[in-house]
Amino acid sequence: TTLLEMKHVSKKYGNGTVALSDVNFSVNEGEFVSVIGPSGAGKSTLLRCINKMIQATDGEVIFDSVNISGFKGRSLRKLRTKIGMIFQNYNLVERLSVIENVLHGRLGYKSMLSGSLGLFTNDEKQQAYHLLEMLGLKEQIYQRCDQLSGGQKQRVGIARALIQNPKLMLCDEPIASLDPSSAKTIMDHLKNISDSLKITVLINLHQVDIAMNYADRIIGVSKGQIVFNGAPSQLTSGD
Ligand code: ADP
Ligand code: ADP
Repeated sequence: TTLLEMKHVSKKYGNGTVALSDVNFSVNEGEFVSVIGPSGAGKSTLLRCINKMIQATDGEVIFDSVNISGFKGRSLRKLRTKIGMIFQNYNLVERLSVIENVLHGRLGYKSMLSGSLGLFTNDEKQQAYHLLEMLGLKEQIYQRCDQLSGGQKQRVGIARALIQNPKLMLCDEPIASLDPSSAKTIMDHLKNISDSLKITVLINLHQVDIAMNYADRIIGVSKGQIVFNGAPSQLTSGD
């Protein structure tokens, strides 16, 4: 079944830059799809048009059979619980602890104060511990995020997204700031999450080799347009 459908999506920024023009593709439930392309191709804009951090100028986004193009306010907040996102720069609240950052995902995007763990039920805390254990962060649960390595920070980001039980994970260059070994750990975790939790993954990568190793399908973007959409094996060096 189709989980996500982009229909004729275009984005023109306020300064006149056309970042996406007439983008069309769909993603099936459970698929692991990588969006690849050079810097400035429009990958980040594309992902952000899905959870509406950026409003597309034109076109429709269909998620879970619902046209979400016009979603605002409460419906948008509810939608974002079903669409987790992780970022190149992690976007954690650095002065808060690991567990506080993860539970922060539970609050949606409301602000959270240090020492406010009491706001959460034991069930919610259990779920956070469980996710952090799965991601190999058991020892770091009460550490402040500013003391963690980049790879550890990204695993906190993944846990923060997962605690909302999303159907889709959007990953915007999640390994671009990491050394090769931490990058591999993150990719392995994402693949494992996709396989075991049946979460659909859409991931922006600029490294073609990594995309080919992990993705079921690759979508190539250049100058705001889709130039390739197929299995990694169909991608030749000429592309
Ligand atoms: P809009 O024109 O859609 O209102 P803005 O120009 O106000 O967007 O920029 C929104 C954010 O994007 C700002 O944080 C800005 O620094 C950043 N930004 C602006 N231009 C670029 C660019 N060329 N590439 C990446 N980010 C940019
Ligand atoms: P990628 O993720 O592939 O590097 P982006 O989606 O960040 O590409 O950027 C696509 C194009 O849109 C680039 O030309 C970039 O400079 C421009 N751009 C990105 N964000 C903004 C913004 N907020 N305002 C104006 N232009 C932007």
